Amino acid sequence: MPDQRFDAVVIGGGIVGLSVALRFTSAFPNLRLLLVEKEKSVGQHQSGHNSGVIHSGIYYKHGSLKARLCVEGAAAMLEFCRRHGIPHQICGKVIVATSDEEMPRLNSLLERGRANGLTGLRLLDRPELRDIEPHCGGISWLLVPATGITDYGEVCKKYAELISAKGGTVQTATEVTGIAERAGETVVETNRGSIGARYVINCAGLQSDRVSRMAGAIPAVKIVPFRGEYYDLIPQRRDLVRSLIYPVPDLRFPFLGVHFTRRIGGAVDAGPNAVLAFKREGYRKTDIDLRDLSETLAYAGFWKMAAQHWRSGAAEMYRSFRKSAFVTALQGLVPEVRGSDLVADGSGVRAQALRPDGSLVDDFQFVCTGTMLHVWNVPSPAATASLSIAREIVQMAAQGFGLKSA
Ligand SMILES: Cc1cc2nc3c(=O)[nH]c(=O)nc-3n(C[C@H](O)[C@H](O)[C@H](O)COP(=O)(O)OP(=O)(O)OC[C@H]3O[C@@H](n4cnc5c(N)ncnc54)[C@H](O)[C@@H]3O)c2cc1C
Repeated sequence: MPDQRFDAVVIGGGIVGLSVALRFTSAFPNLRLLLVEKEKSVGQHQSGHNSGVIHSGIYYKHGSLKARLCVEGAAAMLEFCRRHGIPHQICGKVIVATSDEEMPRLNSLLERGRANGLTGLRLLDRPELRDIEPHCGGISWLLVPATGITDYGEVCKKYAELISAKGGTVQTATEVTGIAERAGETVVETNRGSIGARYVINCAGLQSDRVSRMAGAIPAVKIVPFRGEYYDLIPQRRDLVRSLIYPVPDLRFPFLGVHFTRRIGGAVDAGPNAVLAFKREGYRKTDIDLRDLSETLAYAGFWKMAAQHWRSGAAEMYRSFRKSAFVTALQGLVPEVRGSDLVADGSGVRAQALRPDGSLVDDFQFVCTGTMLHVWNVPSPAATASLSIAREIVQMAAQGFGLKSA
């Protein structure tokens, strides 16, 4: 006999698990829902270590889930922040081309943004740029007025509060250690006892492939952790950046390149880079977990990816250990910035799904198997898109599980 029984169990109290649980409680108020999170409070991993940007949707391939859910989700996130008094600001972003070589990609971004339904996108001339970002360098500039900022840690706390208000339960310090089918129900084993469930939704972020394997599912991907390290502009130099200044990304990769981000509260971050992490939930360069590292190294997909992208991987690693190289990348965006203007300021680790053929999964990926739904790839802009991702997942779960809303 399980120690507790619920209709639906959501594993993972990051922004995706919380938004899914919240949507579940609204769509199916008669179902008893429990969310379990292994840390002492919600939002302790990716959702509490990100850049805080409400992305507009300009980067993503037209027709992809990312494009649709980011555009819809950004509007929903702004409305949510407004309604619940969560600090936010629509500050806009400038994307900077620093060489002729980047111009075709800047123009492709403009086209992508328009195809994705963004309004107000335009190329700036130099006098216009001076009014918006007076210290910005480069040769051509794309203004994305819809981009904003918020504090996703605060969003997570509010989601948790609303789940409880709607009758769901959020149980922290509860780590899922096993999942089994017994006597027609799913039994979720945790460090605090067993939970019987009719339906389980795996939103375990950096651990989502492992949680799938606990349940006997064979994930089509492996989570490979990429750490993103930040510097902070010292307070006297924050006036170098008014809002957000980004490079033109290499559209073959899901990472955006180091950039400047003004935070809610006024600090200005520079970063994050993207280096292979030796520990899935390790935030320092020196953090190593032998199980995490050996799983990465034993995965054929990792070596295929490394063979294709070793050059850019090595450059990121070099930038991670050499501050001057990091500063050089940033000077492409803001030529006046100096190493003495920047102090190291924490990091985040991205859960990036990798296929056996070495390709990085670009789009969001959710898969329903019987009475369990697995969320395998929800990298950036999943914080922005969390409310629309939740709507999509709950719809998929309702179909897969055969649920009818109240
Ligand atoms: C450096 C960085 C910058 C980013 N910047 C942005 C941005 O500006 N804008 C944006 O929209 N997105 C951004 N993102 C992406 C965004 O933060 C993530 O896509 C999002 O937070 C993913 O949420 P999640 O709930 O899937 O994962 P997580 O927040 O990692 O949550 C997963 C949770 O599952 C829990 N868990 C794992 N295993 C178990 C278990 N066995 N039992 C119980 N609980 C378990 C973990 O403790 C964790 O709390 C960024 C990400 C990073 C890393």
